[in-house]
Parts: sequence; C-alpha cells; structure tokens
Amino acid sequence: MSYFSSIFANNKTQTNNESMSQENQNHILPQTLIEKLFPNKLPTPEELNEKYPKRELPPDAMVTRVGPSPTGLMHLGGLYSALISERFAHQTNGVFFLRIEDTDIERSRAETTDVIVKSLNHFHIPTDEGMTISGDEKGKYGPYTQSARKDIYQGLVKSLVEKGKAYPCFCTSEETKSMGEEQVKEGLRPGYYGKWAKWRDASVEEIEKELEKNTPYVIRFRSEGNFENKIKVSDLLKGDLELSENDIDRKILTAATGLPTYHLAHAVDDHYMGTTHVLRGDEWLSSVPLHLQLFEALGFTPPRYGHLAPIQKEDGMNEKGDIIKRKISKRKDPEANAMLYEELGYPPRAVVEYLLNLANSSFEDWRKANPDTDNSEFQLTFEKLSRSNGPLFDMVKLNDVSKEIISRMTAEEIYAVGLEWAKKYDERLALEMEKDSSYAKSILNIEREGESRGRKDISKWADLNSEMGYFFDPIFDEIKDNREETLSFVTKEDCDSAIKSFLETYNENDTKDEWFAKVKTIARDLGYAEGAKQFKLEPTKYKGQVGDIAKIFRVLLTGKTNTPDLHSIMKVMGRERLVQRINSLA
Ligand code: GLU
Repeated sequence: MSYFSSIFANNKTQTNNESMSQENQNHILPQTLIEKLFPNKLPTPEELNEKYPKRELPPDAMVTRVGPSPTGLMHLGGLYSALISERFAHQTNGVFFLRIEDTDIERSRAETTDVIVKSLNHFHIPTDEGMTISGDEKGKYGPYTQSARKDIYQGLVKSLVEKGKAYPCFCTSEETKSMGEEQVKEGLRPGYYGKWAKWRDASVEEIEKELEKNTPYVIRFRSEGNFENKIKVSDLLKGDLELSENDIDRKILTAATGLPTYHLAHAVDDHYMGTTHVLRGDEWLSSVPLHLQLFEALGFTPPRYGHLAPIQKEDGMNEKGDIIKRKISKRKDPEANAMLYEELGYPPRAVVEYLLNLANSSFEDWRKANPDTDNSEFQLTFEKLSRSNGPLFDMVKLNDVSKEIISRMTAEEIYAVGLEWAKKYDERLALEMEKDSSYAKSILNIEREGESRGRKDISKWADLNSEMGYFFDPIFDEIKDNREETLSFVTKEDCDSAIKSFLETYNENDTKDEWFAKVKTIARDLGYAEGAKQFKLEPTKYKGQVGDIAKIFRVLLTGKTNTPDLHSIMKVMGRERLVQRINSLA
C-alpha cells in the first residue's frame, strides 16, 4: 500500500470523503461572489502546473528544503535540520533548496533573511535553489520567498473556494478569541469547528452584506474531518502513528494582506517546488492531519514527512537526582544562536561534524576510521536519527571535535583562518599577528609536550588570544604586572637568585635537555629538589622542587602558569625579548 493510500485506509474516512464531496457541492458560492473575493487576475492550478513542471530526477532522489522564518537569529536547530535535509538530498543526487517563510509580516525582518543565507554559507551547507549570498535567487521553481508568491497562494485558495472547499469568514480576532475562551470554560477543544464555525454555512446574502461593508475577512478551509476518526501516518522518524482527523476549519489566507498561513503555503510550495521529503521540527507533527487534507483538497500528492526532535540540553537535576533535559531555547540559551559559533571562531567544519554526530552517532566511528575523508561522504540514515528524544547538545564534546580538527591544521592554515577571524572579532590580536607574521606562525607551530600531533589547546579562534596573545609585547604589557602576585609561591630572594642564575647561564643554542639540566642546578643551589619524586620522598628537606623554579621562568616570560613547552616558547621568543621580560619584573 502506498504511503498516500495508507493515510486514508480507514473505511470510515473514505465514506466521509465521499459524502462530504456531495456536501461541498452545496457550498459552492456563485462565481460572481467568488470574483468579488478575488478581484485580481490570478494564476490557475493548470497554469501553475505548466509553469512548475515535475522535476526530472532519478527515482530515489530526494528533494528537500529548509524553510526558516526570518523572525530572529538563526537557531542551531534550524542549522541542524538544514544540514540533515541537505545531506539526504545530496547523498541521493537530489535537490536541496532554501525557502524564506516570511508570511508572518509583522515578525519578519529582511535583515534576518540575510543572516540565514550567510549562516548556511558560513557553515558550507550548499543550497541548489533559493536566495543566494549576493541577494539574488537561483532555481526554476521560485520565487523562493513566500511574500513574493501571493498570487500563487491566492490562485489556489480561489480554486478551493470554487470547489466549495474554502469560504470567507468575517469573525474579528476578538470574536475568535472569546469563542476559544468560552470553549475552554466549557471544557471543550478550542477551535473553529462544528457549531463554532460561524461562517461555514453562511448564506450568499450574509457574505454579500459584509463585503459591501468592507468588513475584513479571512478564508478558511472547510474541513471534512471527524475528530473521532483516526488516520494512519507513517513518519520517517516517528514511525507509524495514528492521529485524529482534523475537523477545524483553519484559516488559510488573510484577505487584507493577501498572505496565506503556514499550512496553506506549505502544501502549495512543497507541491509546486517538488519537495519529496519534508524534514521539519516535530512541533508540526500535530498539523499533519490538516496538511494531508490540504494536499488532498488541492489535488496534490503529499510528500513524505520526517519530524525531527529538537536539540536538547541538560538543565540541572530534579529532587530524585535525575538530570533534567530541555529543548535549547532562543530566549534562554546563547548556544541556540548558530552565529555564536562564528563569533567564537569555531571552524565551520567542526560545527557541521558535531551536528552530524548529533544526527547519527555512528558519525564518530566513521570519522575515526576515515580521518581524512570529506564529511560529505558520510551517509546519513533515517534509522539512526533520534526519534522521540532530541539529541543532547554538549559544548565539551563540540570543543573536542573542534580541537581534533584544528590539531590537524598546519600553523600556516591556522594563521590564515585565525587571522581572518581576528580581523573581525579581535582587532588587536589581528594587528599583532599581521605585524610579524613569521613570529606568529612560529608561535602556532609550538606543540604541546608529549602530544603526537598538532596543538590540542585551541578549540576556537577566540582561544588564540589566551593561547598566543602573551607572545606579543603590547598584549603582554597589559598582563605583566600580575606576575608578582602569581609568583608569591616563592620568596623574593629565591626568585631574584633564580633570575640571576638564569640570565648568567642561558644560552639560546641549548637543547631542551641542556637547558633543563641548568634549571636543575639552579633549583639545587637554592635548596629545591631536582625532581618531583625526590621531593615527595623527603618533603621537609627541600623548599620545593625543580618544577617551582621552572614555573618562575614560565610566569616571568608568559604571565601564565600553564603554557605549551617552555623551552620551545623561549626559542620562539628569542633572547632579546626573553631578557627584557625577565628584567621587567617590578
Ligand atoms: N517556517 C517554518 C518554521 O520556521 C518551517 C517549517 C517547515 O520546515 O515546514 O518553523
């Protein structure tokens, strides 16, 4: 049984549909009245079929889309569903497009469209059709911005009215609001249905009268559903479900603005744009019965649906000690803003790979087995996507993924990308990095001791300042006065003597071992153990151990107690800078 026929497999529904069609006949308004409702010349469904022919694609190719509403920041969840949709389309040689869903004109902002396009571009999520970074649209199924498709929606809504499947409603918003309140008071389901559907059976005269008075109106879909009936829906992610039929006459178009509601726009656009798979947030799951009715009423075949569970985060514990999880929210969580990752300087690939991890946990093993393969080679599957519970967002894990990616970059690459980021978000660092690029690159070449490859201390470019800023004198000058306090773990006398001996014995050509032997001597002469073990065995015999002496030099040179290998740092800094820093202790 095909997906579509399984939806209407229920006999009862079938019978209802037949009798309802009969009923629709009785509700067809006179054409003269319909022309008054839609006075402009509008495209007919036949014209639209011609304009937007079926796509010619291989049989298994998926056509997917992302349909963000440009009402605020780009949500991480939006990026996640865009990425998943894009991957399914491209791994099946299909098409992925961007549609701007700006039918809520009050809340839509043009600059947000820009943010959306830039985000997809920044995170390398390639779109085949829709708005591009240059502000133009590409693709033959446009316009891809809903506010530019008014005629199309109106043409189809008109066709529904002509078939008796939609009608005008002149209720004010106050009226529908108080109706809802009354329903709640009476313990009823709220909505425009049954006896509450005031304009459903209005006479031609009543409608004419309101039109003459210029009363604002909306067009409602005439639902033929019965809430008591169940329909079977096979969701790609949620599995086989039984949902109640929709019996609410939902608003589909506002006459004053000419704009449709999401429901109508979804059915119209996904049909004419040839979407085969709608992957969207699971807040839309309960609207599926309405959407299927709309597809049927319009004479369209519905797409397959996959409703994605939202990304969650941990939010404390309950009294039983269980971890509380909740959906990440735009309002409460800065990490919900996709652009935060650009501002902090996560390589886009790190964010994408982390999201792929969230989508299919097998990505991690795949990445280990294929360290150098482009992540577009990874095959996402619906089976492995989270179903009822959304994946858990974890910043620590993101940092690990990112560190791994950065550790595989050369100093040259880190310099180029890091500088690009710094020019935008840390100008002072950018200035220093550019002033002496070979110095900056040698800093980035320093490896942490004991690490087999690359630096694992950088997870994002915002870490560059703390990890390399102190190498540059103007930045160091700002922190150097803190050194005295940090050095309070040794006496002033020991510190001075250590400095003196250091300056007398330092030779920039020393190997690491030669240099460290000298530090040991300094330690021993000052009454410190030459090794940590020795100190542990006889702690009372020594003032401390060689590590403390090395720490003095580390703090003097870098202002920090934790840095990559000190000998490498000294080599990169060069003798002159080193002496100057050591002597600059107040
Ligand atoms: N504009 C809808 C939203 O932002 C998109 C839902 C869909 O993908 O169909 O939630």
